Amino acid sequence: MKIKDIGNSLLDLFFPRTCPVCNRTLASHEKHICTECMLDIPRTNFHLQDFNAMEQLFAGKVPIEKAAGYFYYEKGNPYSGILHRMKYHNMPQIGRYTAALYAKELISCKTFFGIDCIIPVPLHRHKLISRGYNQSEYIAAGFADIFKIPIYSDIIIATKSHESQTHKGIYERWLNTQGIFSARNTEILKDKHVLIVDDVVTTGATLLSAALTISGIPGIKISLATLGVARLE
Ligand SMILES: [Zn+2]
Repeated sequence: MKIKDIGNSLLDLFFPRTCPVCNRTLASHEKHICTECMLDIPRTNFHLQDFNAMEQLFAGKVPIEKAAGYFYYEKGNPYSGILHRMKYHNMPQIGRYTAALYAKELISCKTFFGIDCIIPVPLHRHKLISRGYNQSEYIAAGFADIFKIPIYSDIIIATKSHESQTHKGIYERWLNTQGIFSARNTEILKDKHVLIVDDVVTTGATLLSAALTISGIPGIKISLATLGVARLE
């Protein structure tokens, strides 16, 4: 046993790590999520479907090459625990880990084949200061670990803080995300296939606003990826 492994076992003994889905104590070889919950993850399999429900959200609004999200989540569904811990419990590494697992599945199906770079949906700096990190940057890092392509975090900027979307209707959410992003130093994206990533997709309004800020760049192609997908009715 390596010293690092002994250290981790001791840490597990005094500070047991738990699975965000089932709350069971994790075994020392399990990272972030237990094996059983990982196997049972409610996959959307959007990457295997043409014109899937996520792509339909953007149809006629912005040209998208491919859009896919890893798993379905709903409030109260145990799998929302992954997103909750990642976002609100100072555990963004769960996002990187889960995104890398997803990216491995995607790459084996040649989904997002030919993407050149990744852009995480930015957080407004007020939120960044209060949360301490942008969970989407960790998700971008998980994708980049597998796709081996660069992340550009400073091209799309959040210029306006958008309020919590939780209690708003679809139209209000859409209005609420208008003009919250702007783009700079966009020359680097010319003729590139860009993957924009976010933690979740609900109405698609946030991703749409982000995509629209760069969709006019000559020769650009845009794809979208998230971890969570709210059940789209
Ligand atoms: Zn579990």
